[in-house]
Amino acid sequence: MRDETKCLHAGYTPKNSEPRVVPIYQSTTYVFDSTKEIGDVFDEPTKALIYSRFANPTVMAVEEKIAALEGGIGAMCTTSGQGASLLSILNICKAGDSFISTSTIYGGTINLFAATLKKQGIECIFVDQNADEETIHAAFKSNTKAVFGETLANPALCVLDIEKFAKIAHAHGVPLIIDNTFATPILCKPFEHGADIVVHSTSKYMDGHAVQVGGVIVDSGNFDWTNGNFPEFTEPDETYHGITYTETYGKAAYIIKARMQLMRDYGMYPAANSAFLLNLGLETLAIRMERYCQNALKVAEYFAASDKIEKVMYPGLEGDEYHELAKKYLKGSSGVISMVIKGGKEKAIQFMDSLKLASNEVHVADIRTCVLHPASETHRQLTDEQLVAAGIDPGMIRFSVGLENVEDIIEDIEQSLAQL
Ligand SMILES: *Cc1c(COP(=O)(O)O)cnc(C)c1O
Repeated sequence: MRDETKCLHAGYTPKNSEPRVVPIYQSTTYVFDSTKEIGDVFDEPTKALIYSRFANPTVMAVEEKIAALEGGIGAMCTTSGQGASLLSILNICKAGDSFISTSTIYGGTINLFAATLKKQGIECIFVDQNADEETIHAAFKSNTKAVFGETLANPALCVLDIEKFAKIAHAHGVPLIIDNTFATPILCKPFEHGADIVVHSTSKYMDGHAVQVGGVIVDSGNFDWTNGNFPEFTEPDETYHGITYTETYGKAAYIIKARMQLMRDYGMYPAANSAFLLNLGLETLAIRMERYCQNALKVAEYFAASDKIEKVMYPGLEGDEYHELAKKYLKGSSGVISMVIKGGKEKAIQFMDSLKLASNEVHVADIRTCVLHPASETHRQLTDEQLVAAGIDPGMIRFSVGLENVEDIIEDIEQSLAQL
């Protein structure tokens, strides 16, 4: 199946007279004929469903669909994108370990990595994604267990050279984890470029309609966890009666371990209802992404031609710093544009408050056009230094182009710019 078809059909194939649409299994638990059968599932949890803290049929249908879209062997949904990023690291790193991340990533992820994980004894070493290979190699320590980056950074809109980072990570025997939220598997499939694990905030384009907060981790199945760096994968897990993940689950060791250990213990599994809504969004993801890209390119060209705009960041624009990387890695540059208005923060806020169609909200990648001022909203907790490292100018606006008629979006921008 191709992407448009997978969006509609992957993950759920009803049999004779079963419901056409994946049902909402709104049940916390599952019934068994005997105590022994339940005991058996505790010994080998992939055998059957026992409790919706870590597996549920509605959620699993969505997991299978997303795994199919990314070309992975398995996926696990989480209650948020933050949850997915957190568990993707915790499945590999423990106190005393470190990992490397590019600095131009989502602000919430920077907080999680730089502050919260640090308190748990896991160090994140930030590197400039455009640094030369030698500099990045030099950032590794003997306890470095993973590398993390974002395909299309929110909101700096840098495109990551995934192949460069995969090569570097693999030279050190560690996996590359990619946050593919803004690109979605429709515009980029990081596994095809050597990434090992993908995470998403499904709250963004995948849902698209702003109706559920969620996340997902996808496993390519390609990373060799038996290379000596990952004893938790290759030594018996006493909390599961001595199961050894790589021996028992082979290529699926990472994603099954994430569910069996982390989801069991942290319990961040989405409700069936949320997965049902996410699935509706996924059904139209491929065709929506196409239109987001078309609309955003027109809006980016309009911004670029305006004398009131100092700078436009949109990798789809010819002349953009990341245009060449976008041509290599992306089928389109997605729907988000970052731009800096002349006159700094004050004019940026005036522009945003004068928009009539586009709404001011803390969201992005919605079906409706929306705007946000990172320096005073999502990224206000970052220091000036962190803002610069994350690629954020105080006058920068993140403009998320929706699926309205693009002429209406541009007319709204026009009337607002005219008031500056
Ligand atoms: C929003 C976002 C997240 C966090 O996702 P939530 O669902 O809001 O927790 C992570 N990464 C990127 C790139 C995002 O845009």
